[in-house]
Amino acid sequence: MTSRMPAIILLGPPGAGKGTQAKKLEDRFGLVQLSTGDLLRDAVARQSDAGKAAQAVMEAGELVGDDIVIAILNERISAPDCLAGVILDGFPRTTLQAEALDALLRERGDRVDCAISLEVDDEAMIDRISGRYTCDRCGEGYHERYKRPLKDGACDKCGCQKFRRRADDNADTVRRRLVAYHAETADLVEHYDEMGVLAHVDAMQDIDSVQGLLRDLVQPLVTEALGTREAMDVSA
Ligand code: ADP
Ligand code: ADP
Ligand code: ZN
Repeated sequence: MTSRMPAIILLGPPGAGKGTQAKKLEDRFGLVQLSTGDLLRDAVARQSDAGKAAQAVMEAGELVGDDIVIAILNERISAPDCLAGVILDGFPRTTLQAEALDALLRERGDRVDCAISLEVDDEAMIDRISGRYTCDRCGEGYHERYKRPLKDGACDKCGCQKFRRRADDNADTVRRRLVAYHAETADLVEHYDEMGVLAHVDAMQDIDSVQGLLRDLVQPLVTEALGTREAMDVSA
């Protein structure tokens, strides 16, 4: 018998805070963060076939083809650790991806429990992306003004003193990513509204306040899934 795997989606434009918040939810609830951006950057670094196909598209700020992204996501979500529950960050980004995810979850007796739209205005988005950088070793995310390391110049998580910026976090590419967002991804809000699983969160507040709002939404879903699992174990 399949067990219930909580599946939560974070929707929102580039820079909204999806990655930052997903990592914190992962730490708090033991959910697995699935970021197609991270999976694709990893594929590019390894120069796998998918990575070679995606590299130029990502550098241009356009969307990688649905086939590639769905295959990567499908492989990752099927790993046993994901049974703890997943928090999707940056996927789905097109209607086709959303429908593929619905089908994939349905096959396993699962479903999207909640799609949370992180709402930020355009100015904040640009401000967040232009100050974003990450630890070179562990990938922990930082911001020049809003999330500085506790000890200047060293990563809070691993102590590494080398940081990097993403190649696609430049003004030109960001503009194109925003266009792609409005053309392809913004409509997904409606998809999840129709499914009755949409929630909105004001993501203009500081990182911890936004996390508080998200925890209030996610906690009951995790509790419910655990209850369902226990009931299944008893009947098994
Ligand atoms: P996304 O994954 O949606 O593209 P990130 O989580 O990478 O966005 O956040 C973009 C940048 O903004 C990062 O540098 C992060 O530290 C910072 N950030 C995230 N959330 C907030 C917030 N609520 N207030 C201020 N800065 C934030
Ligand atoms: P951000 O949250 O800042 O927009 P991501 O790390 O999610 O950035 O994505 C970086 C790039 O990777 C995107 O601009 C796009 O080229 C590619 N990408 C990531 N996820 C997807 C997806 N679900 N579908 C298509 N392309 C994707
Ligand atoms: Zn680190």
